[in-house]
Amino acid sequence: MKPTTRLIAAGVLLVAMGAFASGQTPTVDWDMAAKIREEGLQRSQVMDIVGYMTDVLGGRLTLSEDMKRAQAWAKDKMEKLGLANVVIEPFMDYGAAWDNEYFSLQMLEPDYQPMVGFPLAYTSGTKGKVIAPAVIAADIQTKKDLDRYKGKLKGAVILSTPPYALDMAALTQGVSRLTADDLARLEEAVVPRPQRAPVTPPPPNPDLVKPEERLAFFRAEGAVAVLQCTGGQMGSVVGFSRPGANEDKWSREKTLATLPLIAVTPEHYNRMFRVLKRGIPVKVEVEVRNRIGEKVEKASNVLGEIPGSDLAGEVVMLGAHYDSWHEAAGASDTAAGCAVALEAARILKAIGAKPRRTIRVAFWGGEEQGLHGSREYVNAHFGNPKDPKIGAKPDYEKFSAYFNQDYGAGQFRGIYLQGNERVRRLFAAWMEPFRDFGMTALSIQSVGSTDHVSFDAAGLPGFQFIQDRIGGTAGHTNLDFYDTLRPEDLMKNAVVEAFFAYQAAMADERIPRKPLK
Ligand SMILES: [Zn+2]
Repeated sequence: MKPTTRLIAAGVLLVAMGAFASGQTPTVDWDMAAKIREEGLQRSQVMDIVGYMTDVLGGRLTLSEDMKRAQAWAKDKMEKLGLANVVIEPFMDYGAAWDNEYFSLQMLEPDYQPMVGFPLAYTSGTKGKVIAPAVIAADIQTKKDLDRYKGKLKGAVILSTPPYALDMAALTQGVSRLTADDLARLEEAVVPRPQRAPVTPPPPNPDLVKPEERLAFFRAEGAVAVLQCTGGQMGSVVGFSRPGANEDKWSREKTLATLPLIAVTPEHYNRMFRVLKRGIPVKVEVEVRNRIGEKVEKASNVLGEIPGSDLAGEVVMLGAHYDSWHEAAGASDTAAGCAVALEAARILKAIGAKPRRTIRVAFWGGEEQGLHGSREYVNAHFGNPKDPKIGAKPDYEKFSAYFNQDYGAGQFRGIYLQGNERVRRLFAAWMEPFRDFGMTALSIQSVGSTDHVSFDAAGLPGFQFIQDRIGGTAGHTNLDFYDTLRPEDLMKNAVVEAFFAYQAAMADERIPRKPLK
């Protein structure tokens, strides 16, 4: 836009307030859309970027040595791609780092069976290779139940959960694209649901045993390891961290004081369980080695930017969480989202875009444990007027919008407006050059569970794209690898994200906000 036009725009700003919302057709830079498409679809680097993250770097548990290595690579990569002000920025005291260095689990008797599983984060290791009988203790609910197992678990490997019923129907479901009907349903205007009255929780049953108490009991009884299966499919298993780890802030002492706690795939876990139920002994060999940090350290985010020109002090952000669980490479959850954001920035650099506002890419940490990285970043840089202890910082008014990818690795099919009707016309216009991608849906829904929530919670415009469910079922399992990703989906996402970032960075106004309640 020419300076003269800008001056006029500034002059009529008061009258034109809310122009985005009130019917003025937002400008769409079709020429720029063409350049972005050419660079992003014909010379894409997104699979090279996400391939390095997942194949070479692998799982990225917040604060682990693996994550520190991955963050160092990300900083270097951002710099090589020409981003400015690249920084690994600590956001809070997090706890002791934890890395799994070795894991092996076999059934030796009554039949040899190598087993698939992984140790939960923030658990301890075994003392070398241990061969031990498996014992079922899967029905402990109350303190009374503990009594039944006193003196019976010494030297045992414990099967601590009931057999896991496999959903065989889910096995036959392939990847799913959103259909026209699905998108129409998402687009239906939703009347905000009445806030449910807060439910008063029933008084805690003092007899109930908490998962961490059960684990402490197993350890006190002299068990050597604990196995569980609380979810998954054939060949895949979910498992996160030791119960109580979030509450004790990933404490080194608490981690060392626990037992090796191992998630096992349903078919292997259930097999042992059934054999034991026949009264036939099961002998297991297990070895776990974990590296546990010596001290409390700060977790970090990685950021880099394309500096703006006349509005450089204002910022448009795009990103995803870089941290993953440790059992797989965190490909769809969400190296893919980080690679898309970085590729979007690369595209803009490659075509020589000169955005007016600064475009900043964020690779968040601490998302999987509670959106910690993005929340602390928002608090530190922009503030939160809804929280009187934090308040709005000077940069609060200079923030435009944040765009996020974290609903798997599938293609963008539209965007959730997060309850903000003021952005409808704007986003409808910006999607127009990508109609052929199937990028068409606007949903007024407010969605959660990922980092745009940290912005939204502070009254700042933060958005998550509507995505096909590709690779999404692998998230949080031991199967979340590069193979779950579809190159064409990520290439298109990077193109769309680059264009949204560019348009937001060039618009006369910052992205309109919902009124602060
Ligand atoms: Zn995620």
